[in-house]
Amino acid sequence: MTTDFTATRDAFVLPEGMIYLDGNSLGPLPKAAAARVAQTVTAEWGQMLITGWNKAGWMDQPARVGDRIARLIGAEAGTVVMGDTLSIKVYQALASALAMTPTRKVILSDSGNFPSDLYMAEGLCRTLGADYALRVVEPEAVLDAIDETVAVTLITEIDYRTGRRHDMAAITARAHDQGALTIWDLAHSAGALPVHLAKVGADFAVGCTYKYLNSGPGGPAFIYVAPRHAETARPALSGWLGHESPFAFDLDYRPGRGIERMRVGTPPVLQLAALEAALDVWDSVDLADLRAASLTLTDQFIKGVEAACPDLALATPREHDRRGSQVSFRHPQGYAIMQALIARGVIGDFRAPDILRFGFTPLFIGESDVAKAVDVLAEVMAKRLWDRLEYQTRAKVT
Ligand SMILES: *Cc1c(COP(=O)(O)O)cnc(C)c1O
Repeated sequence: MTTDFTATRDAFVLPEGMIYLDGNSLGPLPKAAAARVAQTVTAEWGQMLITGWNKAGWMDQPARVGDRIARLIGAEAGTVVMGDTLSIKVYQALASALAMTPTRKVILSDSGNFPSDLYMAEGLCRTLGADYALRVVEPEAVLDAIDETVAVTLITEIDYRTGRRHDMAAITARAHDQGALTIWDLAHSAGALPVHLAKVGADFAVGCTYKYLNSGPGGPAFIYVAPRHAETARPALSGWLGHESPFAFDLDYRPGRGIERMRVGTPPVLQLAALEAALDVWDSVDLADLRAASLTLTDQFIKGVEAACPDLALATPREHDRRGSQVSFRHPQGYAIMQALIARGVIGDFRAPDILRFGFTPLFIGESDVAKAVDVLAEVMAKRLWDRLEYQTRAKVT
């Protein structure tokens, strides 16, 4: 299969004149999603009402969609289920992993991780009691910090700020060697580059779908549990839809079969409909083609910006296998510069304290977009177009 990126681009609504380099934060609207959601609303919810759970297959949707995600992250069939938000799935995976390694009390993560992952880990440690601890080290120190006290590693493969990539195979191997389990957060990996969960032997993985997978704001998260743990991992969030037999309405909880036990409550049917439409686009995508195109675009952007904007410092590693599908630059006026870019139709985002972040998503971004984005950024920098009061005021979402 050779991916036709002209066809994938045509599958999205892309406002005229906008160069959207923020698909790593919120993917654009797939053209088919609006009709799919409308169909679910009018023909399913509207006409079937409660019978939609059976007739329209709403109840099986979290696992059915999970199988489509599995292909994109190198997971076995029947190992991924959808639901909740990523923060919740982080908590669930952590609680299960800690219960599987009861003699150890340390969660290991790194300072490049997204704060919500660290907050969830801290909250869980507080709930479990004094001897549990979250140990946060520098990203470069993760491998050496995995010792026989570590119960589980909680690592996000691609750093949300810099785009730096961890070596998933090496960290997983080291963790197993030391008797620890691994949780991989794929928030900036799923749909950004090939992932090989089964091949590296990951224990748990979690991720969101509204970034590179384009499910829309509030789209559900996913969780992966390796087949060898599927019948032993005990869910701490033991909701009724993770029960072996939800409609028996037993008073006691018994975990459901395999990955089904990681479900909690009622699935977000409308969001899942949008996600199903978004995943149709992925059916025609070869992830090796995607990665090759992504590296071409990011190389082009790095080269162009470094040549034209000497004041911007590259925050992303240069080596291909050490980065994901985003490029970040540092500048003390990063926020104002990004507002000036957005005002000129080049959409990236800003991450405190000084990071300008640009996501490259070959499904809808091409080399001519990158060239234009470089030109606009070069003009903003050369003419100090960012230096206006209106670009200094921080909005709630940056
Ligand atoms: C985007 C992101 C999140 C967001 O979590 P939500 O619960 O979906 O809001 C969490 N962790 C990482 C690593 C992320 O990149």
